[in-house]
Amino acid sequence: TAAIIDGAAVARASRARTAGRAAAFRARHGVAPGLATVLVGDDPASEVYVRNKRRAATEAGIADFHRHLDARSAPDDLAGVIADLGADHRVSGILLQLPVPQHLDGPALVDLIPPDKDVDGLTTLSQGLLARGLPGLRPCTPSGVIELLDSADVGLAGAHVVVVGRSELVGKPMAQLLLGRDATVTIAHSRTRNLEAVTREADILVVAAGRPALITARHVKPGAAVIDVGIHRTSHGLAGDVAFDEVSAVAGYLTPVPGGVGPMTIAALLSNTVSAAEIRAAATESTDRRSPHHVL
Ligand code: NAD
Repeated sequence: TAAIIDGAAVARASRARTAGRAAAFRARHGVAPGLATVLVGDDPASEVYVRNKRRAATEAGIADFHRHLDARSAPDDLAGVIADLGADHRVSGILLQLPVPQHLDGPALVDLIPPDKDVDGLTTLSQGLLARGLPGLRPCTPSGVIELLDSADVGLAGAHVVVVGRSELVGKPMAQLLLGRDATVTIAHSRTRNLEAVTREADILVVAAGRPALITARHVKPGAAVIDVGIHRTSHGLAGDVAFDEVSAVAGYLTPVPGGVGPMTIAALLSNTVSAAEIRAAATESTDRRSPHHVL
């Protein structure tokens, strides 16, 4: 039976490392890194996600800035809030919680976030940097998946990884990060023919389809590592895209839901926030060194 990868424990260790970096940043610069969360409307799931992110940030020594806008807010209201946070030196990172209400254009609003504060890694620029293999802030959920695989010592170089799902949020950046680690990547999606035949080829299977119990024992090569990104609320609590019981009998490694990828997403967000603060501070210092009054 599969070794269960304990995302909660890996996330706890990651958050402790981030808290150490945040404390060092504060000691050096006199101000803590700051995370601004922006929530539009009252979607209950989004409220829970934002509350968890804010609490985790505070616990890691990251200053909490939060803006809650009415569901009927106009695009200009949001643009104003994002511009204010962009100009606020105490704010290292800005996260716009998705989805936004129907009348708003989520991707267009995300693109208003200054690239050096894009801690969700979802702006067009950040995604382009990732696609080009250039340094930048990386999307949190795929980063968390990589950290989970590394924590279990599942080798990526040369391995055949099948990613189920091609969203901008998870599937596509997941594939890019895996390519950056020299994996052999296949992306499957809703139009893929004979999904079962494709996923059975995977040494590592990352599932982000948003379909409960899509992946059954038949879909999995014996011994494969299976990472379940899906989250669904069922009458028995949270569940993923993988039929946990039957797949755990076949897979070599498996992540649970809850307690797998979810906590890693938050851990990656906190790490990105401190990285954003560090990168900005380093950029400011090097500009200062180049300025004439320092030379004199
Ligand atoms: P999405 O709906 O934007 O994309 C789903 C993708 O899955 C699409 O590319 C689609 O082509 C593919 N797909 C759908 N049905 C399929 C099928 N039957 N066979 C093969 N492919 C299929 O969703 P998303 O934003 O990428 O999220 C996916 C899931 O991950 C959701 O359940 C979401 O709640 C969850 N999620 C979890 C976290 C986390 O932190 N754990 C973060 C983000 C999303």
